[in-house]
Amino acid sequence: MLGRITVGLSSGTSGNRGLFLVSGRERAKWVAAVWQKVLPKKMYKGKIAFFLRANSNLYTSVKSKRWQFHFFDLMQPLSEHLERLATLSPEVLVAPPSVLLRIAHRQAEGKVLIHPKKIISVAEVLEPADRKEMEAVFGQTVHQVYQCTEGFLASSCAFGVLHFHEDRLRIEKEYLPGNPACFYPIITDFNRITQPIVRYKLNDLVHERTTACPCGSVMLAIDHIEGRADDIFEFSGAGGQKKQVFPDFIRRVMLSSEAVQEYVVEQTAPAQLLIHIQAQNFEIACRELQEAFGQFFKENGLAECELIFNSDLPLLRDAKLRRIKRRFQED
Ligand SMILES: [Zn+2]
Repeated sequence: MLGRITVGLSSGTSGNRGLFLVSGRERAKWVAAVWQKVLPKKMYKGKIAFFLRANSNLYTSVKSKRWQFHFFDLMQPLSEHLERLATLSPEVLVAPPSVLLRIAHRQAEGKVLIHPKKIISVAEVLEPADRKEMEAVFGQTVHQVYQCTEGFLASSCAFGVLHFHEDRLRIEKEYLPGNPACFYPIITDFNRITQPIVRYKLNDLVHERTTACPCGSVMLAIDHIEGRADDIFEFSGAGGQKKQVFPDFIRRVMLSSEAVQEYVVEQTAPAQLLIHIQAQNFEIACRELQEAFGQFFKENGLAECELIFNSDLPLLRDAKLRRIKRRFQED
């Protein structure tokens, strides 16, 4: 908090750095919208398990006398969370898809047994194959929320289809040439005054749904968002044990250098990262990243890693926009 303003930093769905500012009034409206659009219908209380890189008073403000909010820190190994998750047995489970998939695997193996009423995928793009797998394990629709620095943009209806919140936002479309169903959204948010968002173009490529959604909503339906399907990295802890690091953390380290304009990070071996960057000043970017990664490894008890820098950027616009890739198999 800075005075009465909530200040937040975000890496957004598209992986761009952003700063957001919201007043108490705007925050209250945001909470109301989350309650209305995201929490299960006809349920008025329960426990929400929330897996995130960092907690924020914006998120915990959703809690109330009826909804309890339980934060799970993504930097802790998932294995340490599973027992707490099972004991908690949350009604609502919110996590990035990479984490949801791991929980689903444990559930399928019988190592954790939870019965959430609603599962919500956040922060990363949900891949159809992963979604199918999770839905099979939990026997329910996996929902999505599309939220970033620029606002609370879309959430899924009862059929699991994402709809833009056109009751809160104006969405303009910048179509890709030659592709009538694929666009970059340009958003104007009617609820933001502290930090006005006016005709702001997002980097996410949105594929429009071409058939009407069975829910009957007139709000613009999204088939899918072409975004990141980044990989989880695996490093050695200081004691030699394996430690998983979610893409969001790597993204954050990369964005800590102001000089970096575009990037791809590949983990080529357990103790080696190949970092491709496009930067205004390559030398400065390398120095800043060297320092930032050094600090990240130290703070998280990870063994040092060799960093190889490359000023050539591999083509990003492939089928999947993957900025963070692991190039060796987990064993
Ligand atoms: Zn719908």
